[in-house]
Amino acid sequence: MSPAASGAAAHVPQRTCIGCRKTDDQAVLMRLVGVDMDGRIAVQVDEHRRMSGRGAWVHRGTACFAAALRRRAFHRAFRGQADTTDAEAWFKALEDAPTGSKLETVQPESGSEI
Ligand SMILES: [Zn+2]
Repeated sequence: MSPAASGAAAHVPQRTCIGCRKTDDQAVLMRLVGVDMDGRIAVQVDEHRRMSGRGAWVHRGTACFAAALRRRAFHRAFRGQADTTDAEAWFKALEDAPTGSKLETVQPESGSEI
């Protein structure tokens, strides 16, 4: 449609998913961070991309996360014993909430019962 000049591609950082090993826009990938906890590395989902530390990227979806688990990509990415319990719970919740608005419970204000 648009006679766009060259360089029309948006300037979006590219990252490699450790699950499927494909490179994609940072926007569609989740950042995971390895937080050091007494010698163990707890893998956390960095939803706001503000956490410091060694990061890894995976597509938003359980398939890529599961693939990363299977191939022990986290151990490689974080160079150690990576504890993925928290991240697993996060992705499980994501699966349960297909719309993406997870944990958003619509609670009607306790109406006036007068
Ligand atoms: Zn992927």
